[in-house]
Amino acid sequence: MDAKSDMKSLQHFIGGNWVDAEGSKVFEVLNPLDDSLYCYSAHGTGNDMRDAIAAAKAAFPAYKETTPTERERWLLRVAEIMEERQQDLVNCLVDEIGSPVSKAMFEITKGLTMVRAAAGLCRNVRGETIPSDAPGKFSMSIREPLGVVAVITPFNVPLIKTTRLVANALAVGNTVVHLPSEMAPHLSMIFAEIVAEAGFPAGTYNVVSGFGAEIGDDLTSSKDIDFVTFTGSTFVGQHINEICAKNKTPNTLELGGKSPTVILADADLDKVMPLAARSIFMFAGQACIGSSRFYVERPLYDEFVKRFSGMIGKIGMGDLRDPNTVIAPAISPRQRDRINSHIEDARAKGATVYGGEWEGNRCRPTLLTDVTEEMTVCRTETFGPVTSIYPIDSYEEGLERANDSEYGLSSAIFTKDIDKAFHFARNIDAGMCHINGPTIHDEAHVPFGGNGESGVGREGTDADMEAMTELKWVTVQL
Ligand code: NAD
Repeated sequence: MDAKSDMKSLQHFIGGNWVDAEGSKVFEVLNPLDDSLYCYSAHGTGNDMRDAIAAAKAAFPAYKETTPTERERWLLRVAEIMEERQQDLVNCLVDEIGSPVSKAMFEITKGLTMVRAAAGLCRNVRGETIPSDAPGKFSMSIREPLGVVAVITPFNVPLIKTTRLVANALAVGNTVVHLPSEMAPHLSMIFAEIVAEAGFPAGTYNVVSGFGAEIGDDLTSSKDIDFVTFTGSTFVGQHINEICAKNKTPNTLELGGKSPTVILADADLDKVMPLAARSIFMFAGQACIGSSRFYVERPLYDEFVKRFSGMIGKIGMGDLRDPNTVIAPAISPRQRDRINSHIEDARAKGATVYGGEWEGNRCRPTLLTDVTEEMTVCRTETFGPVTSIYPIDSYEEGLERANDSEYGLSSAIFTKDIDKAFHFARNIDAGMCHINGPTIHDEAHVPFGGNGESGVGREGTDADMEAMTELKWVTVQL
């Protein structure tokens, strides 16, 4: 497809230059609110990807010799320019992926902490001295960057994921090739403009726009890629895991979730209710750590369902630029079909459905009760504003059912009983657990990630520093 001249058309950012895709091909990026054309973007090919990898590889030897002061200064400048360009970032997050302005601001605030925390990482790339058994031998470990890092990001939190992973990779001295979601290329191109303006050398950060299904393998299977960090669906993550295993490429995989919230009989529902709503309806449930399973102890169950079903009609679904709006459009026709089919399958098999109507491309907040094993929604990630509520007869049953999932990303428990709360934290098979807080929570320096089908490895400043560098043993005979 060729771009029409009056519409914005994005290029790749390779080796410090803005370049067209091979053959100047583009694809359409649609505004999910009404499926109108948002922009055109370069339709990348395998050759484009190879050019980007070559640029990152060429930039690495000089970049790895840069000082912590230089990298810290560039990263802090990235944060400053992000603040100067806040309105551009908001507009892009609203119109490219349908973020309500409150979620866009959440991403910007988090993104700034990601970049600033990464700046602090530059001085922390350290090894240690090691006692030696050999007389007169001074022994130490030094920590070195790996080389070229492939960063693959999803559509739903493109700024948080881009800032965290790109900034951490650059902070420790790697160069980067980034494949953003085909549904959110513009956000990454704005970030590339910011990185270039901040002074990072040409070739250190490269962005290729295109379809992961077409050019993802050209990235992840390249012998010149030294680390892969992928965030996205479990299905694609499994495929990447196989490629990385074959090539012995180290990687982190941040995948899907079906995160549980357990509410015990002693919980204070006045405090729980707003957090429960936040746990699942932020960005209309398009959050990997959204809570799509609530297990409520029997004495509170009826009251919880009554209050939650009374709340859902009041959750903001107006103009995306209204700060009170919470509910976003589902990102694509395929995703709308998926959400709808999960709701209708549950309804047809006997679930009670609260909400579930559609207004244009937006699905109203939806609660399901009487959910059974035969229903798709019971075990499968919906990635929409849909959650199931189940009664439990005891804490032990809550823990057992919370653990009865292939996924293991985030989890939460609401109770005043400190023994049960800590028992849950120790025994839930999940990468993250929040006591008296929602499943949706993230910070720059924490170990973020999941178990089982939810992924491999952890993200965050410390975790990324360890994953994206390698120790080398060095001795000196004195
Ligand atoms: P997706 O898997 O469809 O796409 C993610 C990225 O993978 C995109 O950039 C896409 O282009 C790329 N891709 C597709 N095929 C590829 C291939 N063969 N090789 C390399 N890259 C390829 O996911 P999505 O729809 O963008 O995001 C939603 C999913 O992401 C949900 O399952 C959600 O739970 C998950 N997610 C997880 C986290 C986390 O931290 N665990 C965070 C956000 C989203």
